[in-house]
Amino acid sequence: MSKPVYNFCAGPAMLPKEVMATAQQEFVNWNQQGCSVMEISHRSQDYLDVAYQAERDLRELMNIPDDYAVLFMHGGGRGQFASVPLNLLPENRVADYILTGSWSKSALTEAQRFGDVNIAAETYKKDGLGSVLPFEQWQLSKNAAYVHYCPNETVDGIEFDYIPETDKPLIADMSSCILSKEIDVSKFGLIYAGAQKNIGPSGLAIVIVRKDLIGKARAQTPSIFDYSVQLNSESMFNTPPTYAWYLAGLVFKWLKQQGGVKAIEQRNKEKAALLYQFIDNNAFYQNRVETRYRSKMNVPFYLKDENLNTAFLQDSKAQGLLALKGHRSVGGMRASIYNAMPLEGVQALVDFMQDFANKNG
Ligand SMILES: *Cc1c(COP(=O)(O)O)cnc(C)c1O
Repeated sequence: MSKPVYNFCAGPAMLPKEVMATAQQEFVNWNQQGCSVMEISHRSQDYLDVAYQAERDLRELMNIPDDYAVLFMHGGGRGQFASVPLNLLPENRVADYILTGSWSKSALTEAQRFGDVNIAAETYKKDGLGSVLPFEQWQLSKNAAYVHYCPNETVDGIEFDYIPETDKPLIADMSSCILSKEIDVSKFGLIYAGAQKNIGPSGLAIVIVRKDLIGKARAQTPSIFDYSVQLNSESMFNTPPTYAWYLAGLVFKWLKQQGGVKAIEQRNKEKAALLYQFIDNNAFYQNRVETRYRSKMNVPFYLKDENLNTAFLQDSKAQGLLALKGHRSVGGMRASIYNAMPLEGVQALVDFMQDFANKNG
């Protein structure tokens, strides 16, 4: 048998092997219908069963309270950078944004197109390491319509280890950490996530929103981005991304079979610990994030000798370890180890890194 391939891409990211096998098996003959699930009407009972089941499974996995709506929307993570202010930021109000890295910055930049935005916390370093400005130093507005933050910065590898306590609706971009650990949904006004990291194919966005926040969208909000339109049409105001929704449903089923979020959280901790411990114990490599805020999903690291970057990427690829190149804005390497990455994949990476250091050190 050939060596297994492990894909460390930050997004679109690998999906569980079992899910891909099921999708392949069902591809041209889904549910004994003689056609694909992507070829049937989104209004048919067969498809509605798929859609409703996916929502039920997600609600179960995340323990989503009944007073929250779950929406399956178009436009990925960035679509929500616009949807959030259009729906939740009235013209005469301000929204607080917490900057911790590249994605929260992009969310802020988009929101600035629609209204008054306050940067309540700037991107912050502690002793030269990526970190989060201590909560006590945040300059939150008295009258903010909401507070927006990114619990896991995919590019920078910075992850919050707490949920900020605010008396304003808390909005979280969980694109790269949703379903990776247990969270208390009731602490949030709205959670959104582009699907292509921990859920399914790109293009789809999941929005979990407290229902009392819905219904105040600005008049010019495009209908497909209006939460009340989407809620009232069960996310089928127009044709939703049906195949992505179906695949997300397969991933939710898979996650339940793994023992749910609690079980996957434990595995994610083990995977991250294995990789960070190796990096910390090997002078050849370096991670530049304060220990407390290190991401369990995205592990950026640098070779001490950056002249070896090209060789590292070539050799790792030849070993079946794909997409380890860091984001172009920060350089270096990055291993994204989402839910679908098995422990064996991280072990294979660590073994390779040890080997590479031995040969080139
Ligand atoms: C990937 C990502 C996005 C962007 O998602 P798109 O679907 O490409 O718009 C936004 N936020 C975070 C945290 C991400 O990781």
